[in-house]
Amino acid sequence: MKNHFGLTLVILGFLISSSLMILFNPQGATANQNNLEKFEDWAKKHEITIKTINENSLESSQAQGMMLAANTLYQIPDELLENMNGKTIYFDNQYGRSFSVISPELQSDVEGLEPGIVLKQEITSYETLHELAHIIDYHGIQGIGDSENILNHLQTQRDEIFEINNEARQNLDEIPLGYISEYSVTDENENFAEHFTYYVLYSDEFQKRMENDSLLKSKYEFFRDYIFNGIEY
Ligand SMILES: [Zn+2]
Repeated sequence: MKNHFGLTLVILGFLISSSLMILFNPQGATANQNNLEKFEDWAKKHEITIKTINENSLESSQAQGMMLAANTLYQIPDELLENMNGKTIYFDNQYGRSFSVISPELQSDVEGLEPGIVLKQEITSYETLHELAHIIDYHGIQGIGDSENILNHLQTQRDEIFEINNEARQNLDEIPLGYISEYSVTDENENFAEHFTYYVLYSDEFQKRMENDSLLKSKYEFFRDYIFNGIEY
């Protein structure tokens, strides 16, 4: 008897939640339209241009990728997004490696592109954050390709914390202490971008690993205190 009652509750709960989902989460075109409008509003608010490129290879996953990037970017505080002001986010329908356009004059292979980020299929939160991090670092802190480097006051600290120490370079059989990933050892720019990405996306892992790692801890604190103004994920 008791079991039946429990089962009835489960079924009833399921029915109620399903009908709520239908009521408040309309499937199909309307929902996509609303999501796209929300993303366009977000971009407008931050003076970011959104463009799609290579649309002739359009796939159904394209809209999904765009929404994934959008939901990732909504997590970034407004103040930090000021570094994206006047820049472009390209959604490239071709498959490949995403990249950032820092300074079209200095970079090859970015002909016709404005400063910003190019996200290629298959779009991930990881790539979205990693490329955004390069904009914040190159444009915001270092002032490369952008004279309005609003985070310029962090340059000295950034150089100290993200400089690759020679010891780390020598032993690449394993991820060296002080570094969150193998790729972060590449150079100071990747070092910054990788830790930025992990700070937002894999904060649990970051916090756990920094318990016995003072360099990792100082990287975490740099992002928490100076980049994200106290916001933790
Ligand atoms: Zn990178």
